[in-house]
Amino acid sequence: MLPIVVGRTITEGWVSPNAPRLVQLLTPEEFCRQIAGRRIVDISRRGKYLLFHLDNDMRWAVHLRMTGRLLYEKNACAETPYLRATFRLDDSSWLCFVDLRKFGTMWLVDDESLVTAKLGPDALSEEFTPAYLQAVLKRRSAPVKAALLDQGAIAGIGNIYADEALFLAGISPKRAANSISKPRVARLHGAIRETLEVALGDRGSSFRDYLDPSGREGRHQLKVKVYSRTGEPCYVCGTSIKRVQLGGRSTHFCPKCQK
Ligand SMILES: [Zn+2]
Repeated sequence: MLPIVVGRTITEGWVSPNAPRLVQLLTPEEFCRQIAGRRIVDISRRGKYLLFHLDNDMRWAVHLRMTGRLLYEKNACAETPYLRATFRLDDSSWLCFVDLRKFGTMWLVDDESLVTAKLGPDALSEEFTPAYLQAVLKRRSAPVKAALLDQGAIAGIGNIYADEALFLAGISPKRAANSISKPRVARLHGAIRETLEVALGDRGSSFRDYLDPSGREGRHQLKVKVYSRTGEPCYVCGTSIKRVQLGGRSTHFCPKCQK
């Protein structure tokens, strides 16, 4: 559907009032005002971003997230309660942004790196220090697990690694990020590094690699201690590993070892 719209001019934009977080950096009104009259000169992709190059050198960036879809319609956008934004084109066709869960986001920027480089420092980089982690956690009252998964704060900690690092540090994933003492944050920093270094040792082993118990557990492979072990005994204390949902992700921990 996408190449079809190259060369077309957006005549009018509309953002649903029930999608208040869709447009980033600008108000929806300002976004619609600025995008109107712009011609789409090219489309590219960068990671999970769809980038519309506009004739004034601006970029309209769209991140679909989990359930967002950008649909091309010849005559009109289909009526659905999940319609979050519409863009009318100069040949009377439409781009319709439909998003069940409303996690999708869009921007209008003059420099696409403002959007695509919005990742925090990599967890294995020198910038990621105990002090940096302390600063990230201090700003948040959300569960520490959710804070660790926020790629805009720290890049590279996936769901498995977060669970394993928190176990190694003896910190409950449910604990409010800003309630962790400085020495424990330092321990968590070390645990994140250790977990990632072990897991990514060779090249970043896939999870399948370390699920396989049959003698493949090389030096560089992470042996999961809590992830996906719901109901199994903790290797340290024997308590059953628990599973909860935190920030929409399944989270595994030992209720006795992690406080
Ligand atoms: Zn335990």
